[in-house]
Amino acid sequence: MNTFVQYNPTKLYFGKGQICQLSQELNKLGHSVNVLVVYGGGSIKKNGVYDDVMKELKSAAAHIVELSGVEPNPRLSTVHKGVEICKQENIDLLLAVGGGSVIDCTKAIAIGAKYEGDAWDLITRKAEIKEALPIGTVLTLAATGSEMNSTSVITNWETKDKLGWSSPHVHPRFSILDPEYTFSVPRDQTVYGIVDSMSHALESYFHRTKNTPMIDGFIESFLRTAIQTGPRLLEDMQSFEYRETMMYVSTTAFNDTLLNGTDGGDWATHRIEHAVSALYDIPHGGGLAILFPNWLEHVLEEDPSRVKQLAVNVFGMDPTGKSDTELAKEGAQALRDFWNSLGAPSTLGDYDIDDSEFGSIVEKTFIKPGVGTYKELDPESVMDILKRSL
Ligand code: NAP
Ligand code: FE
Repeated sequence: MNTFVQYNPTKLYFGKGQICQLSQELNKLGHSVNVLVVYGGGSIKKNGVYDDVMKELKSAAAHIVELSGVEPNPRLSTVHKGVEICKQENIDLLLAVGGGSVIDCTKAIAIGAKYEGDAWDLITRKAEIKEALPIGTVLTLAATGSEMNSTSVITNWETKDKLGWSSPHVHPRFSILDPEYTFSVPRDQTVYGIVDSMSHALESYFHRTKNTPMIDGFIESFLRTAIQTGPRLLEDMQSFEYRETMMYVSTTAFNDTLLNGTDGGDWATHRIEHAVSALYDIPHGGGLAILFPNWLEHVLEEDPSRVKQLAVNVFGMDPTGKSDTELAKEGAQALRDFWNSLGAPSTLGDYDIDDSEFGSIVEKTFIKPGVGTYKELDPESVMDILKRSL
């Protein structure tokens, strides 16, 4: 194992009715705090989450300001709106109520509010992130893990760039996770959430650090749990039990727990997916479902060992009489088949994407140098993965 430091400052309130903790958290910040509530296109007004949040804020005598309309794949233009509000209204706390897009947008607002220039300078690392407004979250969609990590992904629609960034300053102070708040998540978004959280676990799995039996077994158990629970959840979307399991899986899949002692895994598929989303604005989980099995097939041609381990330990394949490469190919196919069985897309064509912008997707994948660690990809490799995904 590598040396590591485990420190996650997000206080997690998990379970039914935990929204009651919100007023306590606000009281800790003092009297009559100014809160900017950030949310998306209005799902929280239909499922009652908005009312629950407002009740808590009012009982804590907070001064409430709202920013709605955060887009899936949140845009820099919305970050700018939020920064403006923070500066005008002297905001003390940002409260994100929604899925990964709302939380990611809120993180970018939090750094922009403490900076004189354009928040994009911080996201592109032209300027150093030195501070941020405090953030709390009320999660409504199990997928990204953003509620308990320091990462955010923002799209600049003018330059067509979608960039992941992170800073310890944007770790949420607290996050409230009530599985009932995810009952209304539609089927397609539920599937994308399963794919995204499994991708985070898979990308963590593809490291090259020796002697990591505990973390590898942990990740395999994660994946087996998602494979077992995902189809059951889609059969019974109001099941507290299955929603609860997937909520815990998705939060833990990307809160650094799965990276303890390893080199950090290989996040090349996320990089390629961000480049595809930047141009075509497709759902993140949908893009990953298409790209990830093809990344596996690209990688196993050079080194089948890890994909083989996935095939045997996660998909339960019998290794008797099969070569490593045969087993690895079956493992990659099993992952594709599993996601397809949930209804996830399997080719770029499912989103009407052809090869006309592949050159640009490759270029955008390398917007930051270094793509992949388990296998470092060059532009030809990314092109190969895209062609396999057609
Ligand atoms: P999302 O984009 O936040 O939400 C997708 C859709 O689901 C929205 O239309 C949203 O509606 C709806 N929704 C959310 N909760 C709902 C509920 N309870 N009932 C009904 N509808 C609901 O989806 P996401 O997958 O969580 O986030 C995707 C974004 O996160 C992408 O930009 C991706 O790149 C990024 N990401 C971030 C990280 C990270 O660590 N920060 C990791 C992976 C991916 P409303 O607009 O009404 O809310
Ligand atoms: Fe993701």
